[in-house]
Amino acid sequence: MTDVPRGPAEGLVLSSPVYHIKGVGPSRAQALERLGLKTLEDVVFFFPRRYEDRRVIRPFLSLRHDERAAMKATVVSYERQRTSKRGLEMLRVCLTDGQALATAIWFNRRGLETLLKERTQVALYGKVSLRGRSIELLNPDLEILRSGEEHWLGRIMPVYPGTAALHERWLRKLVSHCLELGLHLLEETLPDEVLMRRNWPGLRQAVAEMHTPTDRALWLRSRHRLAFEEFYRLQLGLAMRRAQLDDQLPAPVLDADGGLCQSLLGLLPFELTGDQQKAVQQIRDDMKSSWPMNRLLQGDVGSGKTVVALLAMLQALQSGYQVAFMAPTVVLAQQHLATLRQWLDALAIPVGLLAGSQTAAQRQKVLEDLRSGELSIVVGTHALVQQGVEFKDLGLVVIDEQHRFGVMQRYDLASRHGTPHRLVMTATPIPRTLALTVYGDLSLSTIREMPHGRLPVKSALIGPNRREGLLTFLAEQMAQGHQVYWICPLIEESEFIDAAALEQRHAELAKRFAPFGVALLHGRMSDAEKDAVMAEFVSGKAKMLASTTVVEVGVDVGAATVMVVENPERFGLSQLHQLRGRVGRNDLQSWCFLLSDHCGGETRQRLKTFCRTTDGFEIAEMDMALRGPGEFCGVKQHGLTDFRVADLLKDGDLLELARQEAQHAVKNHQSIPRALYDAVMNRYGAVLDIAETG
Ligand code: ADP
Ligand code: MG
Repeated sequence: MTDVPRGPAEGLVLSSPVYHIKGVGPSRAQALERLGLKTLEDVVFFFPRRYEDRRVIRPFLSLRHDERAAMKATVVSYERQRTSKRGLEMLRVCLTDGQALATAIWFNRRGLETLLKERTQVALYGKVSLRGRSIELLNPDLEILRSGEEHWLGRIMPVYPGTAALHERWLRKLVSHCLELGLHLLEETLPDEVLMRRNWPGLRQAVAEMHTPTDRALWLRSRHRLAFEEFYRLQLGLAMRRAQLDDQLPAPVLDADGGLCQSLLGLLPFELTGDQQKAVQQIRDDMKSSWPMNRLLQGDVGSGKTVVALLAMLQALQSGYQVAFMAPTVVLAQQHLATLRQWLDALAIPVGLLAGSQTAAQRQKVLEDLRSGELSIVVGTHALVQQGVEFKDLGLVVIDEQHRFGVMQRYDLASRHGTPHRLVMTATPIPRTLALTVYGDLSLSTIREMPHGRLPVKSALIGPNRREGLLTFLAEQMAQGHQVYWICPLIEESEFIDAAALEQRHAELAKRFAPFGVALLHGRMSDAEKDAVMAEFVSGKAKMLASTTVVEVGVDVGAATVMVVENPERFGLSQLHQLRGRVGRNDLQSWCFLLSDHCGGETRQRLKTFCRTTDGFEIAEMDMALRGPGEFCGVKQHGLTDFRVADLLKDGDLLELARQEAQHAVKNHQSIPRALYDAVMNRYGAVLDIAETG
């Protein structure tokens, strides 16, 4: 092990690559890069995974079996042994702390004995074994105590997340060395005023405290400051992006009185829930202003988002503007069209469709009517707006994102008349902290309350022994005219193999349930094939649909009462919840069966918990806690959820605070410290598509 040399600064700057640091050669630089450490600055901000408290030096006689402890001792004698097994070399060192003796044992540490001469003073940290009356320490951490040298005895020692290639101890020395080189180069990034108000330490002190804590309270304040700052940077980026969206052409003011909305409400066979009403109000307020609305409407499957969107659409229509409704797939676009028609036909409002399956003539007609303003509402996929379809007066765009996450794409929507208002809908409940992160440039409306009188879907985890019983039950359900989904998971990351596995399952089911009709749907089919299959299932001609997760995305079949999911352990909880949302869309009792032949332990617990609750927000919290924010929503590539200190599970309050402060700063054109601005632009400028300002 080469020691990292200490010495005067090596003429490095924060952005210097790690291989410029003495003691870091090519192979270590590579290993460091695997930890995400490319520059001096990266190392300075490479915080410990945990700490070991070595402040209390324990006398040998106070040690308990199996505990970890810090000790100070003097070498009495040592002995090298070769164990017969596998030729391990063992060094046994007898130590005293002045009152008692202990034995420390190291394996394969050639040369160590040359450091451990009699009377050498050492500090030790490690796990204690008591064997009868003798005290043993196996492979303890060791430091030779020489006068005048820095050591970890009596301190709280950082433990860094290492790799096999990098010895923990070397890493510790490297970080400590980099702090000497780099700490004084750090420039303060938070405004003094914020630091004073919160009683937070400055950047240098906070970073130092994270590496080598001196005081519990100060460490906590340091952690808060750094976590806040990470959130603050992202929220500044999001606020800057939002300000740019807002600065686009003014949006049309859609403030007509709500005659059409009243008519629709009169037609509805139900009352809006409180959350629906609140969302409608928030949207209405946004659309009355010439600031373009950029709002996310989030609500569980079946929470009634469509009618909220419809009310927004009618408001736009009444104000003399057109509406585009975008869905992620053709199937969904068609379904939305059908749903909207139910209500719009009653109000004598025509709706057009722009989707792949149309004839050229049909498409031409819709395009013309949109250009002339004849047609007020069009439904389609995202291509609808991206391919420069022309509108006479586009006032509102509703985007059904379902569960595609991430910062909203910049649709080129500006028309001659200004920027339309935007309403994005998502059926995947996500924890608030995550919503404020990945959708942080949007205003947020949430529907948590489900419509009254719904029967919650009953869920059960069942093993192979109950498979036969399940099949009988399915036959009974279908005999009553109800419908069944049977989902096979992704088995390989190959559409081809998955389709083959599914086809086999389909063949079995089709044989068994021949009289009921079993349809087959998977991602390798063409749009036309998919449409035909869906039509067969929607019409009830096929009572069962064997499918991959393509149905997950919002398909709506009212008579479906059973969802069977094979190998549920392969799915995230939120995904299972989405699947479950395909049933229970009527006043019949519905069921969700998770069919698993091998799941135990934690997986079993997880699935059991899923079966116990139907609250999508609760499931989302659980899912995020289990898988981490990045995995949970698959936005790793954006890096929006990668924080060094901040934690979306624990630091919700800091996030809210950072968001408020950032919005306040951007709205009021407060000057942002240069170092902070640069940091924001470096990290988020490209991802969030923020234009450079002075
Ligand atoms: P989602 O949020 O999944 O898009 P939908 O808008 O499709 O949900 O609504 C699901 C069903 O609930 C629809 O049939 C809709 O008409 C009905 N619905 C919506 N709001 C209410 C309500 N307040 N009371 C009763 N039923 C409602
Ligand atoms: Mg919907």
